[in-house]
Amino acid sequence: MSDLILFWHRRDLRISDNTGLAAAREQSPKVVGVFCLDPNILERDDVAPARMTYMIGCLQILQQRYAEAGSQLLILHGDPIAAIPALAVALNAKAVFWNWDVEPYSQIRDRSIIDTLKEKGIEFLTQNWDQLLHSPEEIRTGNNSPYTVYTPFWKNWSSKPKAKSVETLQNTEALTKAEQETAQKAGAIELPSAKDLGFIWDGELVISPGEAAAQSRLEEFTNQAIIEYQEQRNFPAVDGTSQLSAALKFGVIGIRTVWQATIAAQENSRSEEAQAGIRTWQQELAWREFYQQAMYNFPELAEGAYRDTFKNFPWETNEENFQAWCEGRTGYPIVDAAMRQLNEIGWMHNRCRMIVASFLTKDLLINPQLGEKYFMQKLIDGDLSANNGGWQWSASSGMDPKPVRIFNPASQAQKFDPEGEYIRQWVSELRSMDTEYLVTGKIPPLERHGIDYPEPIVDHKKQQKQFKQLYQQQKAST
Ligand code: FAD
Repeated sequence: MSDLILFWHRRDLRISDNTGLAAAREQSPKVVGVFCLDPNILERDDVAPARMTYMIGCLQILQQRYAEAGSQLLILHGDPIAAIPALAVALNAKAVFWNWDVEPYSQIRDRSIIDTLKEKGIEFLTQNWDQLLHSPEEIRTGNNSPYTVYTPFWKNWSSKPKAKSVETLQNTEALTKAEQETAQKAGAIELPSAKDLGFIWDGELVISPGEAAAQSRLEEFTNQAIIEYQEQRNFPAVDGTSQLSAALKFGVIGIRTVWQATIAAQENSRSEEAQAGIRTWQQELAWREFYQQAMYNFPELAEGAYRDTFKNFPWETNEENFQAWCEGRTGYPIVDAAMRQLNEIGWMHNRCRMIVASFLTKDLLINPQLGEKYFMQKLIDGDLSANNGGWQWSASSGMDPKPVRIFNPASQAQKFDPEGEYIRQWVSELRSMDTEYLVTGKIPPLERHGIDYPEPIVDHKKQQKQFKQLYQQQKAST
């Protein structure tokens, strides 16, 4: 058997601060990367072209990074259950390493691959929780059960010491010419473009792919905007958040590196405002881990509501209203601005994600699973755990104990887009309208003249009442 270790990348598209990859390099200088384009994922009906374009861009850069480190990244296209062991067998690899993931599909797939590798006598190492600062086993309640409420989770999670970044891959050996030919016979291909895979994204990518771009975004953010994060993070017209979600989803930056940057920021900026901003941002990183751990411990979350009250909720089936929501034509300017931002750039500000999710579920009374899927079809950072967590939170169907949370679109706009800047940016036909009409959504008929913008498709007050009634009925019957 050779001393070759294959490192299988999945949601860790980087060679820096990658725990599984560093463990592989410790065992052998001959570490070769592999990424498998999995038809079980690519052929689903909720894959966003922006996300795939970003992912392929990251893979291109990852190939360069491997070349700089002396090795290479192989690309496979096929079911990993067959393709990964077949490549390992063909190359006579000593071992296959990868980082563990929380998603239900990954876990079933990975267990099957482990069985095949065992049969073939190939070693494996999978138990690195690279994408989390703390593994699900580490963060448990006093009764040794998983947390279902964020605040105690945060208390426990934040009190634990955090690991330091691990070494970047370097001084590796590549495959020989003969081994490269063998790899090709076993399925290794040139990296296709997103278009070759059927994903057309004509817009510009708002988030640049690759490790260096993620690293410089982190530095820029933790040197500056993080100081005012506490205040600015809620205003969608302001560039006040990190925009690191896509990089974190695909592991283009290591979570230990990100955490250390927050500690450096805490040491560099001692003002109260800065400390509050940094703490609040750390709490967002903890929300990310909370939802990932929830998905790991309660995989049924992926299938629907967590709370019984919402399991058979009589959601409305109204295709017209759903389409109006998707297209940003509900007649509620803040909702429409947000949906148009999503459709145009594949990203939406967190405040607006909450507003549109509340609107779909509490105003249109439409099943949150439809919104969750639409988000996955569009978001560059679409991630099962975070998206599901966000939708269940907004629909009040999740673990969060606070039952009914209804956002009033007008008060949200008045508070968080008081000058209507964000609305004007995305709803161009309303650009010259008075701010008051934009934020309240109450546009007088005369002002509407000559403007192709819909009347509100529902009445917020009425719908809110109806939702509450339905909720009480369901609660009484469960
Ligand atoms: P920042 O404010 O800079 O936060 C830093 C990082 O913390 C983010 O990059 C993200 O990784 C994490 N984070 C922040 N807020 C949350 C949160 N509420 N839940 C989980 N992680 C969080 N985030 C995704 O990454 N993918 C999704 O598919 C997704 N879908 C969402 C759907 C809904 C309905 C809601 C309400 C939220 C969703 N979020 C999702 C969470 C959040 O909106 C985004 O992470 C955030 O807007 C990304 O922007 P940022 O990187 O500038 O965030």
